[in-house]
Amino acid sequence: KEKSAEEIRVPEGISYEDIGGLKREIQLVREMIELPLRHPELFQKLGIEPPKGVLLHGPPGTGKTLIAKAVASETDANFITISGPEIVSKYYGESEQKLREIFEEAEKDAPSIIFIDEIDSIAPKRGEVTGEMERRVVAQLLSLMDGLKSRGEVVVIAATNRPNSIDEALRRGGRFDREIEIGVPDRNGRKQILLIHTRGMPIQEDVSLGEIADVTHGFVGADLSSLCKEAAMHALRRITPEIDIEEEEIPQEILDKLVVTKDDFKE
Ligand code: ATP
Repeated sequence: KEKSAEEIRVPEGISYEDIGGLKREIQLVREMIELPLRHPELFQKLGIEPPKGVLLHGPPGTGKTLIAKAVASETDANFITISGPEIVSKYYGESEQKLREIFEEAEKDAPSIIFIDEIDSIAPKRGEVTGEMERRVVAQLLSLMDGLKSRGEVVVIAATNRPNSIDEALRRGGRFDREIEIGVPDRNGRKQILLIHTRGMPIQEDVSLGEIADVTHGFVGADLSSLCKEAAMHALRRITPEIDIEEEEIPQEILDKLVVTKDDFKE
């Protein structure tokens, strides 16, 4: 069955190892989501309901999507993505129907993780929205959350960078009642992230990731990822004058020169 853009299943095999910093946050996610997905019997025995919804909030590019994907692949759960802005624009007039279908499918194929990116765009405070349609989408989402059989087998993870702008009703018990802040990385976090994004790169010995971490205050994971890719491209551009693009194979002595240097990170 063909999947629309909102429902890409993620077989990417992203693991917790691919997430830099955020150790405490990953621990919380594992407790709140992975444990009930893997061992619902623990919660049954205690007589408590595992969380149905977890809200990840923090600035763009800090790894919210990455964390959701990692839990899904580490638990072998289905991963269904809903993009907040798209569900309103692309399925205009059919957003509620689309949401219902996604939740149904998630329950049918449980264990599943539904990831709602930019939830603020589909669930703004109902008092503040003008359109009838938005109001109905929020109401539909609330009722779908309430209707989830809470055995921990379907978990909805939502991401936002504006936690205070979403409808309060969504944050009440039994809905998105757990929150984890995913913040901007500190120096050590930046170093961990740089390590991850240079893992497969030929890096010259004089490159100190610690030094780069020192001077990239304010950079989030997405920025650091681009920085590493830019450095690699810079290294490539250095040797392109020596390459004959039409040649069958690049000579080994040129390949040997393809190393990312300290200066490549500076430019
Ligand atoms: P948005 O709110 O814009 O959707 P997000 O918090 O969901 O942002 P991600 O999509 O998870 O951010 O991150 C974008 C990219 O940045 C990731 O694919 C990854 O390459 C890199 N990245 C972000 N955070 C981290 C991190 N903590 N460790 C490693 N890579 C990261």
